[in-house]
Amino acid sequence: MQKGTIQVQTENIFPIIKKFLYSDHDIFLRELISNAVDASQKLKTLSSIGEAKGEFGDLIIEVKLDEEKKTITISDRGIGMTAAEVEKYLNQVAFSGAEEFVKKYKGQNENAIIGKFGLGFYSAFMVSDKVEVFTKSFKEEPAVRWECDGSPEYMLEETEKADRGTDIVLHINEESAEFLDAERIRGILNRFCRFLPVPIYFRHKEEKNEEEKEEVAPINNTQPAWKKKPADLTAEDYQNFYRELYPYNEPPLFWIHLNVDYPFNLTGILYFPKIKQSYEIQKDKIQLYSNQVFVTDEVKDIVPEFLMLLHGVIDSPDIPLNVSRSYLQGDPNVKKINNHITKKVADKLEELFNKERKEFEGKWDSLGLFVKYGMMTDDKFMERGNKFHLFETATNGGDGSEKKFYTLEEYRMATETLQKNKEGKLVILYTTDLVQQDAYIKGAEAKGYVVVKLDTIIDPSFINQMEMKWNEVHFNRVDADIADNLIDKQENQESVLSKDEETALKGLFDIKMPGLTMTVDVKGLSTEAPPVVATRPEFTRRMKDMASLSGPMGSF
Ligand code: ADP
Ligand code: MG
Repeated sequence: MQKGTIQVQTENIFPIIKKFLYSDHDIFLRELISNAVDASQKLKTLSSIGEAKGEFGDLIIEVKLDEEKKTITISDRGIGMTAAEVEKYLNQVAFSGAEEFVKKYKGQNENAIIGKFGLGFYSAFMVSDKVEVFTKSFKEEPAVRWECDGSPEYMLEETEKADRGTDIVLHINEESAEFLDAERIRGILNRFCRFLPVPIYFRHKEEKNEEEKEEVAPINNTQPAWKKKPADLTAEDYQNFYRELYPYNEPPLFWIHLNVDYPFNLTGILYFPKIKQSYEIQKDKIQLYSNQVFVTDEVKDIVPEFLMLLHGVIDSPDIPLNVSRSYLQGDPNVKKINNHITKKVADKLEELFNKERKEFEGKWDSLGLFVKYGMMTDDKFMERGNKFHLFETATNGGDGSEKKFYTLEEYRMATETLQKNKEGKLVILYTTDLVQQDAYIKGAEAKGYVVVKLDTIIDPSFINQMEMKWNEVHFNRVDADIADNLIDKQENQESVLSKDEETALKGLFDIKMPGLTMTVDVKGLSTEAPPVVATRPEFTRRMKDMASLSGPMGSF
């Protein structure tokens, strides 16, 4: 039996821990289970390099809740600790980590800190009056029991323990009685430990009493999709994983599997959800993991704002996860990760646009909001997005064809000869309301203009941004005075029609009735201003239109 004093450099570590970790008591379980996972993984590593001999059996983690004894026990079959290691890791190192933290983060005490500072273990004291550690190292050394009641004094003695590994027994304090509830614990496990790489079993007394049987299934999926190779996954696997994450959502449109190992480490899968209406947009759907440990679903400052519309998982041990938000913002890794994800997303969209344009157009309803939002909030994405951002026509083609989609460049090519204003800018005609502006749309289309639909709540700002970015473009709502904004094409324009065609047309349009003469300017090919220069297909189409008009007109 040995007694000693935990080496502290200030009065007491516990007030510090409580102060800094107070915001979320649930994380004690995450921390202790992370340590159990670490201990298991370490054993695997040591065994693979021959430093740990013999069979290590099934490495599982158990969480046991004993409502009567008011204890929660976390057991693993990992490397365990010798007496010397307990002294080193539990009595010493943790504190130096804390000191480092306090120095480094003076003045940022609102934010939770845990984990890599060697404080994780001590989070047990947030919920416990007393913590006992029973541990047996994989090395041939006696098992030991460590006990501490939250004061700087600890107790360390040899003990009997059959199996290799560590049991952490938490004697839950009165204020934390909520944690003696099986559903509460299950909830925490589901939140934080759902994708940890070692099987975790949750056992509690009630259940055993009832049926005397142990739970068979682990609470976690040890091989989440994002950790697998993209080549080993089918579309169905991705869909299934999405359902695992968001059981109530509609299936995603498509996804991006992230896999980077240089210059930082990052894996994950990002899904494009179906977004019908902008008010349906749900942010904070991306979950952030560090080595498969759930950290947060508040990814603000970690992924660019517009990417928060995506769903899925990002996992990076390189994000300094357990530190404060303001720290994250300035972190160079976070910035790099940010840029990388943005680039990947743009790559994927561009690829889809180039290779599967029809499909891309079919998804534009959902994608549009996302792309516009990205272009508005991220200048790099503005440039890239402009290659696949689409303007959707307000109506189907007059001949019953489907709606058309134009990139800015395509729109320019299709309309340039007609839709220029006096400053020489390309005029994009748009509608904000298909029903109310119906007459205007029809009128404009009759003149050969292309009217596009910009009717979502972000479109007004999108239009602003586009005009600021692309100086040579001007947006004009279709019901505004179009004629004022477009060059009158009637002046000095050559007809594309031959003399014979002109005569034929004249005959068609010169409808003479008592008291009514209607003369058509064939050159401009229109009965109303502004006239239109006819191209040959245009000419044919118009001839047909006119022919079909002649019926009712004839009966006039
Ligand atoms: P960190 O995990 O950030 O190193 P912790 O305070 O969580 O800090 O743990 C301190 C150290 O205690 C660990 O690094 C590890 O060496 C040791 N330790 C904690 N729990 C276990 C365990 N279940 N099995 C083996 N070693 C453990
Ligand atoms: Mg830890």
